[in-house]
Amino acid sequence: MSPTLKRRQFLQASLATAASIGVSKLHASAFGREEHVEAVVIGSGFGGAVASLRLGQAGIETIILERGRRWQITDAGDTFSTYQEPDGRSTWLSPSTIVFDQVPIDTYTGVLDVKVGNGIKAYRGAGVGGGSLVYNAVTYQPTQELFYKVFPRTINYKELDRVYYPRVRSILKPSPIPDEILQTDYYLSSRIFLEQANKAGLKARKLDIAVNWNIICQEIAGEKVPSAIAGQVYYGINSGAKNSLDRNYLSMAEASGHVEIRPLHVVTSIEEFDGNRFRITCNKINEQGTVLAQKSFVCHYLFLAAGSIGTTELLLRAKATGTLKRLNNQVGKLWGTNGDGVSAVITNGPTHPAQGGPAATVIEYFDNPIAPIVTEQLPFPIVPEGVITSLGQAIAKPEGYLTYNTSTQSVDLFWPSNSVNNQKNTQALLYTYQLLNQANGTTLAQPLDFSSTAHPLGGATIGAVCNTYGQVQGYSHLYVVDGSLIPGSTACTNPSLTIAALAERCMDRFLNRSHD
Ligand SMILES: Cc1cc2nc3c(=O)[nH]c(=O)nc-3n(C[C@H](O)[C@H](O)[C@H](O)COP(=O)(O)OP(=O)(O)OC[C@H]3O[C@@H](n4cnc5c(N)ncnc54)[C@H](O)[C@@H]3O)c2cc1C
Repeated sequence: MSPTLKRRQFLQASLATAASIGVSKLHASAFGREEHVEAVVIGSGFGGAVASLRLGQAGIETIILERGRRWQITDAGDTFSTYQEPDGRSTWLSPSTIVFDQVPIDTYTGVLDVKVGNGIKAYRGAGVGGGSLVYNAVTYQPTQELFYKVFPRTINYKELDRVYYPRVRSILKPSPIPDEILQTDYYLSSRIFLEQANKAGLKARKLDIAVNWNIICQEIAGEKVPSAIAGQVYYGINSGAKNSLDRNYLSMAEASGHVEIRPLHVVTSIEEFDGNRFRITCNKINEQGTVLAQKSFVCHYLFLAAGSIGTTELLLRAKATGTLKRLNNQVGKLWGTNGDGVSAVITNGPTHPAQGGPAATVIEYFDNPIAPIVTEQLPFPIVPEGVITSLGQAIAKPEGYLTYNTSTQSVDLFWPSNSVNNQKNTQALLYTYQLLNQANGTTLAQPLDFSSTAHPLGGATIGAVCNTYGQVQGYSHLYVVDGSLIPGSTACTNPSLTIAALAERCMDRFLNRSHD
């Protein structure tokens, strides 16, 4: 039976039940402690936002369960905390901040979370909008050649290039930094970075960034709180310059009238139920993280979009506890860091290193003789004047993995930071900096830092756990639509655009639309 027909039958049966107990709207119908709905999406980051919009537009009643809270940009410009005065809003349920200096804070459902693993710390977003709340907004498409060094040929790059990447860009609206903004004092580091690359004969260019540059102009003119220009990125941008998902995909999904977002709902388990449905159990928490109630939902179609670590944890727990018995042994495998490595370079004059965000420029060194590499200049609050910081990305092999720890009831993360491939990527980045240093008389301020990643990818990958359209093997109505699908790397680019484009492709297949 086709998914469309099944969906219609489920809708009719549910409406009949709802009508018999006097409930008129399907997604508001509560059956005791359990709510029944046609589709549930877990997580509201890139994969979840895309899935929800397309489900809503198809008229499918959908609930999004999101562990974090909503963040509404205020006129006063005080939605988020700042690097200079961090408070609980900065960090997910932690007594201290987790980036830069560790500062004591109130325990709160803040925007940035970290998974501390063996060999790696993996950062991720929390809240309605997921990683888009904390990201640098870099919206970057890989080349076809590098794409196929990571992804299987079952994914047609030309189709992504023609249909899905443009579709995502049409909603996120990324664009390069306008020259008049680049020429301001705030973006001194970005300009020096481009000049230094030029002197070294390396290709450098502006990146497409999902921000509203008009708002950044207003920051410069003193009409909005200085936020992007002050280098604030990871705790959110208070001026409203960031085109985060709550302000595009998710608000469009809600406007369809078929999608409801439930913030502060932490999903704890997923199970197969009654043959062809799923039961999702979650904790409803308050903003301090205290559990207020346990709730469950039953759905016909379940979309996992809790991010690489969140989705993999739910699947590994379901496997360990026997609630999804047909999951295969590939769950948790093929995980990687996207080759992330941070560097800081000392130059011969002022750089204003803490200003001018988000990351606006990149050096692309795809024909590096050791390995293809890119490096993006980033504002960093804790480095001294005269330094330029940047983030390198490479093709990480998916050599990492997650396992389920029954005593902590969470996942353990393992990353072989010293593997041959990781050493090769380190050498490729070092070689790039040697060229830059020779041409510019600069020096590396510290060893390259590969101890953390902002780009965790994998754990439920295409071809191993899921088919090429995100459907989990063994479960016809269970889908993964987030970064878990991707085997460790988006081929020398930041991942959000590729995650969203693949999610668009998965949803087209689910809704029986194809562009092949
Ligand atoms: C500091 C930082 C900067 C970054 N900058 C960039 C950039 O410039 N460009 C780029 O392309 N990428 C960037 N990234 C990476 C990007 O944010 C991620 O690749 C992307 O968000 C992953 O999308 P996703 O859909 O897989 O999951 P996410 O966007 O992480 O969304 C997952 C959502 O699920 C929720 N969730 C998790 N577990 C549960 C649960 N049990 N129950 C309910 N909800 C749950 C989370 O709160 C989150 O909202 C950055 C990341 C960080 C941390």
